[in-house]
Parts: sequence; structure tokens; C-alpha cells
Amino acid sequence: MITLNSPVTELSGVGKARADMLKKLGILTVKDLVFCLPRAFENRSDVRKLQDLNFDTPASYILTVASEVKSARIRKNFTIEKFRAFDESGSCEVVFFNSPFIKDVFHIGATFRFYGKLTAAKSKIRLSTPKYEPYREDVALRDYVPIYHLTEGLSGKILEKLVSTALAAIADSIKDPLPEEIRLQNSLPTLTYSIKNIHNPENDVALRKSISRLAFDEMLYFGIGVSLSLQYKTAIPGVVFSHTGLDEFTKALPFTLTDSQKNAINDIYADTVINAKKPGYGHMARIIVGDVGSGKTVCAAAALYIAAKSGFQSAMMAPTEILARQHYKEISDMFSKFGFKTELLLGSTTQKEKKRIYEAVENGTVDVVIGTHALLSDKLNFAALGLVITDEQHRFGVAQRALLNDKNASAHMLVMSATPIPRTLALALYGDLDVSRIKDMPKGRMRVDTFVVNEAYRERLNRFIEGQVQGGGQVYIVCPAIEEGEGESDDAEISLSEVDKISSKLKNVKNYAEKLKQTLKNIEIGILHGKLKPSEKDEIMRKFATGEIKVLVSTTVIEVGINVPNASLMIVENADRYGLSQLHQLRGRVGRGTRKSYCVLVSDLDTPKAKERLEVMRSTYDGFEIANKDLELRGPGDFFKSRESEGFRQSGGFEFKLAGLSSDALLMEAAFKSAKKIVEKDPTLSLEEHKALREEIEAYIAPINSSIS
Ligand code: ADP
Ligand code: MG
Repeated sequence: MITLNSPVTELSGVGKARADMLKKLGILTVKDLVFCLPRAFENRSDVRKLQDLNFDTPASYILTVASEVKSARIRKNFTIEKFRAFDESGSCEVVFFNSPFIKDVFHIGATFRFYGKLTAAKSKIRLSTPKYEPYREDVALRDYVPIYHLTEGLSGKILEKLVSTALAAIADSIKDPLPEEIRLQNSLPTLTYSIKNIHNPENDVALRKSISRLAFDEMLYFGIGVSLSLQYKTAIPGVVFSHTGLDEFTKALPFTLTDSQKNAINDIYADTVINAKKPGYGHMARIIVGDVGSGKTVCAAAALYIAAKSGFQSAMMAPTEILARQHYKEISDMFSKFGFKTELLLGSTTQKEKKRIYEAVENGTVDVVIGTHALLSDKLNFAALGLVITDEQHRFGVAQRALLNDKNASAHMLVMSATPIPRTLALALYGDLDVSRIKDMPKGRMRVDTFVVNEAYRERLNRFIEGQVQGGGQVYIVCPAIEEGEGESDDAEISLSEVDKISSKLKNVKNYAEKLKQTLKNIEIGILHGKLKPSEKDEIMRKFATGEIKVLVSTTVIEVGINVPNASLMIVENADRYGLSQLHQLRGRVGRGTRKSYCVLVSDLDTPKAKERLEVMRSTYDGFEIANKDLELRGPGDFFKSRESEGFRQSGGFEFKLAGLSSDALLMEAAFKSAKKIVEKDPTLSLEEHKALREEIEAYIAPINSSIS
């Protein structure tokens, strides 16, 4: 009998080869298959007429084939197939690439329901690489078609078939972990209903309800995770740091602290030195919130200083290797002057080196360890851990924060966040952490003038780059892809004005850098992306920091916290592809020194929505305001989407699959409220009614542990 935990190979239609493909998607069991949720849906019930000239969104068109399929070879290994088709309002050209077989599909007079995006090229209307199904008036076609994450060799059609086989076998034996009371209070459907409908929606109401239910679950698990991780804040007394004074530290800084920085450092001092002594006070659980560039790192460094002076060790965790290296460089230089020993521990650190660091930390000769989630390894044990700092940027480090704190429950905890997240979200994410806000920017900071331009400005933009470099500045250029042809595979936004543009609509780091090298012959251009080896990345960043490289063409690896004060221009290609908060982060990479700085957002998308979003960036410089606008314009989904680009694991460990589809802020609040209720009633989730829930949450957190080497 097939059960939830049966391996996929027990299903008919799954042999070794398919099981291997499924494994690539993280699907091992029948349960995994059933819970492999769509990342998006196509609303094929939205049938338009060609005459509507709807160029903004993909839609369905019921068209009859009007001409034979013509195939032309454009270049080696590249053919283009075209035919004409019509509805009662007009006609258009339907285009496919490298698909000679469609000759046998589309015959004159046959009618299909096509799904895709219309484009206009040289006054002709085109539908390029649409999805298609034979159409008959008396046969109902599906309204909503799920889109899954796929892998090579595994098409959407095959995956759909496998999911439905799995569903038929086990859907009714799925146990609902959500306590009935909570489910009813929030008017949510059952898990079985939701799972069935998300894969094969009965109608749009059923689909919406099911998405809500499953998104609710994710946010509930997350909310419970947050609550659990904060529980011991007050329960366990913290270690006590000694009255050290900070004169030596502040004198070593190349600048004077802003008032906000001083306040934040005073807060830390009070938590760890003064109040920690008081009975019942617990330990520091503080978050420093401040816009990009506001100078949070130095506050963290002060905390590290106090800890080291008091004879305690500290761990500082960053979301990416690049950032960890940067923190290490800044802090180890300064700390060596004070006689403190700092080490860097990354996933890519050699085994031998790791072993050396583990030993040194264990015998207490190291004062500060800076690193990525490699710090969470079981093998890293501290002689006297007194402080744990996580630099979260806008990721969700909750679960890992908790794990790092597990190394010594009395250690103080400090979180740095550049995410100006909206209040509703902040409450859920940071719960009852104490907050130190950095409100004022370091003196002399100028506003980064921001422009939104389209492809027509390319030439001028190149001159602008040249001008910046000639003036002694440096330039970041951010592209969404690493190589040609990357991006969402079923991206319907292919522009057809030139065949060559087909696969390169998304600017990619490699081609872009090549072209730029030809245009700007005497300028040193470097490229940086997540597929480079850590040593290569390091070398490129070093050269950019020292000014040997003037222009850095990069993916969003530079998004988090990179600090090169001499950089004066940030160009973001395909800017419409990014969340506003992410653009704000990127913009924050420039204007960090004394140079007048600029940010140019390049976008050819001229839908009203895209324009409105980019206009927010042009006119708003306050991170909080931008975050609120983002929430308003796109819903909370984007804040939860995992950003697994660049091969960096999102540091939160929580993977939100559905929250990205649901943009309902009220639902999110309801889920967090329920989470709180559950934890208040049953802090260890040990009641019988929470047993299933507890298992689900453990399964959510478990993959983080196993990914640590
Ligand atoms: P973030 O808050 O984004 O992490 P950083 O801590 O990286 O910002 O600081 C950004 C830059 O500002 C760094 O180059 C840092 O040395 C500098 N900086 C920090 N505080 C001050 C200050 N009070 N005066 C001048 N420069 C400062
Ligand atoms: Mg920072």
C-alpha cells in the first residue's frame, strides 16, 4: 500500500531516472510530491480578443489557424516557426522557436486555446511561444493551470501527472496538523481540500481559499518558530560583562560616532554590563535597525569589544561569505591593535583550517569568530561564549539565530537589520526583541540622485560611466542573470524585434561585461557572481575595493552590505525585476563616502505598475517609506520569497513557498496571532492537539541543521 512516506518509486510511472530528477527538486517521498506546490498559476479563463491589444499581461486567445506553418533557419541550430491565426476581432502571427514538430500540430482551420503574451513588433501583433490546447466549444478546459518548479527532463505535464497519481493514492490520509479551533476561527478549509485544489483548482474561489490556507500554515510555522526562539530571552540569566569603558575603542575609530550610534552602544552597555547583573533581567535580546549605510557595524563592533574586554568570546554571523569576509577584515584589523584574536569561518574554509579554528575556539585563544552559517556547526564549541551577533540584512535568520544561541543560552544576542520592514511584519519577525534605532546618517552623506531610464539612454549611460571613472569614482552594474538564457524558463516577455534578443532580454553579467569592455576600452572591468569560486570572488572584491577594478558587473551578490566608499554610481539593469526594498539595498551600496553619487534604474518595461514602482525609487529615499510602499504595491509575499539566487542559502532556513502567492496582509497578521496564541497556551508544543504541528515545525527547521557542514 502506498503511504505518505513511501518513496516516489512506488508510484507507477516513476523509475530510477525520474526518481533522480524528482530528487533534484527535493522530492523523495509521495508526501513530498503532494506538497510540491506550484510557484504560480496561469489564469487561462481570462480569454481576450486580439483586438483588445492587451500587451501587459499573459492571457488566453481562442484562435483558428489561418495559414500553414512556415519554418526558417535563422542561424545554425536555430529555427523559427510561424503561422497566422485569427479570432473574430482580428488576426496575428503565432511564433515558435526550434520547434519544427509544430507543423504536425497546427493545421489550417483547427482552433486552439492559446495562452501567452501579445507583443507588437513593427505594427504587427504577435503571440510568441504560447501554450496551446485544442479547443472545442462543448469541452470545458481548465481555468487555472499550476506552474511548478521544474528540472531538466521533467516537464510540467509529467510532474502534473505524477502529482495527481500521488494525490489519488494518499490525499485522504493526510492528517491536518492545524488545530481545528484555529482552522475554524480563521475560516480556513481543510488541508486535504487545499492540497487537492492547489494542484487542480475547481474554480477561482477554491484556489484562493487553498492558497490562503497553505500560506497561513507557512506563516504560522514561521510565527511559532519566532516565538519559540525568543522564549528563553527572559527565562535565562545572561552572562555579565565588566565595566570596561569605551574610550580606547572610540579613539581607534576613523570618525566620531553619530548620536544614534552612541545611543545604540549605550543600550548594549546597559543590557550587558549594568542590567545583566540584576536578578530576573535575562540577557540582551536586541535588534539594531537602521537604514543601509547608517553605520550599524560599528555598534556591533562595540559590543564585540565589550565582550572581549570582559574575557568572553563572541560569534558574528553574516548572510553571505562576501559580507562575512568584509566584517572580518574591518574588525580583525582594529581588534588586533587591542590584542584580540579574530578568526573567519566559512563553508568554503578548508577542513584543515576549520579544524584549527575549532580547536582554538574551544581552548579559548580566539576572542571573536566571524562567519556564515558555518558557525552553526556542531563541531564549533566555545570555551566562554558571551555574545552572538547576527547580521541579517533582509533575510530571515530566526531559526538560525536560535541555533547559534543554543551554543550558550546565557550569551547575549544582538541582531543587526537593514530591513526597514513595515511595522506589521516587524512585530512578527522580531517579536519582543528590544529595538535600538539608528535614525541619523553619518555626517556628510549626500542623497543618491536616482534616475529611471530605458534602453534609449544606453549611449548616454556609457558616457556617464566613463565620466564617473575619469572623475576617480567607481561603478557597480547589477544584472539579473549570470549567463545568456538564464531566468525564468517560461518567461513570456520575449521581445521579437530582433531574433538575437530572444534569449538575452534579461541582461546577463557575462555578455554585458564583454560588450562594455569593447565600448569602454581603457577601463578595468570586473565581473562578480555566485558561481565564482570563493577565492575568485574575494580577489575581485579586493581589486574593486582597492580601485584596481573601476567597474564591477555583478549579480545581486553585492546587495548585502558591501562597503566600497569610493563607489559613486549604481546601475541596475532590468530594474523592474527587483523588489523595492532590494533596489533600496542596492542603491545603498553607493553614496557611502564623500563622493556625490547616483543610481540609474534601467527598465524597458512600461506597464503602469512597473512605472509606479520605479517612480517610488526615484522620489523616495527613506527605507521605511519604501518598504511600506512595497507592501502596499505588492503585498507581503515579496518579503517572504526566498532568494536563493547566487547559490547562497537564504539564511533563515524557512522556505516560504506560498506566502509569495498570497498577498494578504491580514492573513499574515492572523497567522502570527494564532502562532502567539498556540505558544502561549503550550510553550513546548507538547499537548496532544499540537503533536502533528510540532512535527511539521521540526521538519521545517531540520533541513537547516542538515545543510551545515
Ligand atoms: P550599515 O548600517 O549599512 O551596515 P556600515 O556599518 O557598513 O553601514 O557603515 C557604512 C559606512 O559608514 C562605513 O564605511 C563606515 O565606516 C561608515 N561610518 C559608520 N559610522 C560612521 C560615522 N559616525 N561617521 C562617518 N562614517 C561612518
Ligand atoms: Mg551592514
